[in-house]
Amino acid sequence: MTEPKSMLLYERAKKTLPGGVNSPVRAFEPYPFFVECAQGSKLYDADGKKYLDYCMAYGALLLGHAQPEILEAIKAQLPRGTLYGAPTELEVQFAEAISQASPCMEMMRLVSTGTEATMHAIRAARGYTNRKKIIKFDGCFHGSHDNVLVKAGSGAATFGAPNSLGVPQESIQNTLVLPYNNLEAIENTFRTESPNIAAVIVEPVMANVGLILPKSGYLESLRKITQTYGTVLIFDEIITGFRLALGGAQEYFGVKPDMATLGKVLGGGFPLAAFGGKTEIMQTISPAGKVYQAGTFSGNPISATAGMATLSYLSKNKNQLYPKLEKNTIELKKTLTDQTTNYKLPVQIHSIASLYQIFFTPQTITDYDSAKQSNPAMFSAYFHELLKQGVFIPPSQYETCFISEAHTETDLKFTTNAFDCALKAAAKTRNPP
Ligand SMILES: *Cc1c(COP(=O)(O)O)cnc(C)c1O
Repeated sequence: MTEPKSMLLYERAKKTLPGGVNSPVRAFEPYPFFVECAQGSKLYDADGKKYLDYCMAYGALLLGHAQPEILEAIKAQLPRGTLYGAPTELEVQFAEAISQASPCMEMMRLVSTGTEATMHAIRAARGYTNRKKIIKFDGCFHGSHDNVLVKAGSGAATFGAPNSLGVPQESIQNTLVLPYNNLEAIENTFRTESPNIAAVIVEPVMANVGLILPKSGYLESLRKITQTYGTVLIFDEIITGFRLALGGAQEYFGVKPDMATLGKVLGGGFPLAAFGGKTEIMQTISPAGKVYQAGTFSGNPISATAGMATLSYLSKNKNQLYPKLEKNTIELKKTLTDQTTNYKLPVQIHSIASLYQIFFTPQTITDYDSAKQSNPAMFSAYFHELLKQGVFIPPSQYETCFISEAHTETDLKFTTNAFDCALKAAAKTRNPP
């Protein structure tokens, strides 16, 4: 009887890393598998088990694990140095390519993480407008800095309570939290607060509470109302950027925000993010302007090389790639729909482009409040049975599943059988023995 290596590693990890992990979403009970290596659509764990991956590093790996073009580009760059502390032509070229792909990104700053990107985008919007307050939406995630770690209030505009110990009430007193997909709430807030609102920050498609799509016309209305009141509209495209389309949600929905944040897919598996937008807003950034922002690793040549290789690949292949990803997502959604009907499971299955999620609830989901009606026991049974079958999805109902270019027809067939077992397990939780 040998104990699983992952279990032993989890026990060991808990002694030096809080909760045994370096990011909380990675932990689940009884123990998470510890990764040995990855290739294409598969992860391999310390015990030699293979998993078909629908987490794809929380959406970062649009082209799959260890993508050959990206690896080649990195190998060529490594001997030329990994960090300079001085500007490079590569950064300029990369910024030009991002600008060409994303409609609103006239100017930008490269940073290392999405958290940095949203933190600085908000600072720039406040500096530019000389206003203090921001609006975010209940359940939208914008990284883990103080200003946006706010839980939702219900009803109309509420000052939220911090989501985390260690965030003083004072740090979030200028953050207004509103329900997503609710125009009345935002109109009412602007009616009373408009002279103070620097920015509205939104995930154009909510992908951090499961997957919730904007109602038809919602993003257009956000665009209109922010324009009316001189408020900066920020699309947090850290998940949707390069995933809904090469130009992200801006291109997909045809709505141009004043600023956007990009990350995840942009770095091709390396730490890289960006914030940017209209030139007149971005000119406020130091040393051009008086909004301070800096970063030792910003635009480092390894991340920029991986990002450039990713962008080149995407722009070359977009006409085949995006339709193929969408077709595969629709196929998985259809499989799930048929099987849940079979097991008489009341569910909501949402999908767009290469993202999908199943919610175990009969109720329509349009915002975080409605998403919270989902049955956690059913999701847990579904997740653990998928894992047993060799399919890894994010371990929470409030995450999203991602399909990559590396997922093959064979992978999809394999998933069909795994879904069947997992939904059977979920259905069983209705009648506990
Ligand atoms: C992941 C994510 C972030 C934070 O990015 P990090 O690189 O993890 O700091 C911000 N916004 C959205 C929408 C995200 O999905």
